[in-house]
Parts: sequence; structure tokens; C-alpha cells
Amino acid sequence: MNRKEAAADRAAGAAVQGKPQEKAVVVFSGGQDSTTCLFWALERFDAVETVTFDYGQRHRSELEHAKRIAAKLQVPNRVLDMSLLNQLAPNALTRADIDIAQEEGELPNTFVEGRNLLFFSFAAIYAKQIGARHIVTGVCETDFSGYPDCRDVFVKSLNVTLNLAMDYGFVLHTPLMWLNKAETWRLADELGAFEFVRTETVTCYNGLPGDGCGECPSCKLRRAGLESYLAERAQKAGAGA
Ligand SMILES: [Zn+2]
Repeated sequence: MNRKEAAADRAAGAAVQGKPQEKAVVVFSGGQDSTTCLFWALERFDAVETVTFDYGQRHRSELEHAKRIAAKLQVPNRVLDMSLLNQLAPNALTRADIDIAQEEGELPNTFVEGRNLLFFSFAAIYAKQIGARHIVTGVCETDFSGYPDCRDVFVKSLNVTLNLAMDYGFVLHTPLMWLNKAETWRLADELGAFEFVRTETVTCYNGLPGDGCGECPSCKLRRAGLESYLAERAQKAGAGA
């Protein structure tokens, strides 16, 4: 049984028992982490949609890649306009005239204050609209760059707040929360998505897909994780042979 048939089967089963279909919304950028989360959600939920935020990214191709990946996986992709974020807090992710930099002991200047608070809240409003309870995000505390709204305690707190704000039983899922980059590659592999994630996703600050520019901090982090996972996989294959 393939993934789609399995989902259809679960939906039919739920309908027979009079239970509502379980729908999920994935907060989706087209990057490695959120694409892995999308595969994770497709395995678990009857229906999955994605939301992508347009906040004036300096690489507009990011939005195109997100759209293309969603189309390839046959899931709806809704782009929400968050350009107001750049109005409030211009930063290196959105402004070509600001270089990406990080001072010792400080947050990198790609950080946008309160971004996940806003993104997850908007995703929740949309999710309720379409009857989805589950919200899936790729936030992670392990390779923690110091972003306070990537922390597990923040997500749990927001989950309670959203439920109270909308009188609804949201469940916020963070499948990558305690994984390092190598473990995220392993999860993609376990989901049968390793090659897809490796070639189709964009993590690079310069907007290049797959292995990217190889020079920016994001590419270096991605490559280090990939190499560490590939070494682990080769070792396992060697031990099995
Ligand atoms: Zn790069």
C-alpha cells in the first residue's frame, strides 16, 4: 500500500467510525527541515496542506521552490503575505543591503524578533478555517542559534495560548525539536525522502537548491550534518555486509 492509499484507507476507516478526518497544516519554507516535516505529516495525517510566508525574502526563488515541492507532493500550498514583518524589523534575510553576520555571543542578524510567534499564530488561524487541528513545524532546539522562539517551552506555551485564544484543540507538532542535523537527514531517509530532500530543497542563504553555494553558514551547517549522516550510513552498511 503506498502513502496515498494508506491515507485514503485511514480516512475511510475514520468515516466508518464516525470520527472526523485528521487534517494537518505544515508551516513550509521549501527548506530541508520543513520538507522533512511535510513527509512526516503525509505519513501520519489523512489530509495535509502547507502554508508558506512571504515576508519579502531576499531570494524570491524560495517561494518558487516551496510551490514546486508542494506541487510535486500533491499538497495544497497557501502563500500568506507577511511583508509587514520587514516593515517592523528589516534584517539580513530580507534586505540585500544588509550582510549576513554574527557577532560572538549574539544572535545572528538573520534573526527576526517574534517571527515564529507570528507565523504559527497565522498558521493556526488558517488551520482552524480549514478544520485542521494539527500544525507541524520544523523548529529545533538542538542546533539552537539562540532563537528564543525555536525553544520547546515556547512552542508548548503558544499551543496553550492558541487553544485558549480560539477555543480549539490545536496540537503543535515539532518532529525535529531534539534532532541534530545528521538525525534530521536520518529521519528523511527513514521516510523514504532522502534523495528528494537532498536535491529539491533550498537551505542556502544565497537561494541555491540542493547542495547550495557551499559557502554560507546555512550551507556549511547542512553539509556538516549530511556528511556526518552519510558516514554513519556507510558504517552501518559496512557492518551489515
Ligand atoms: Zn549557501
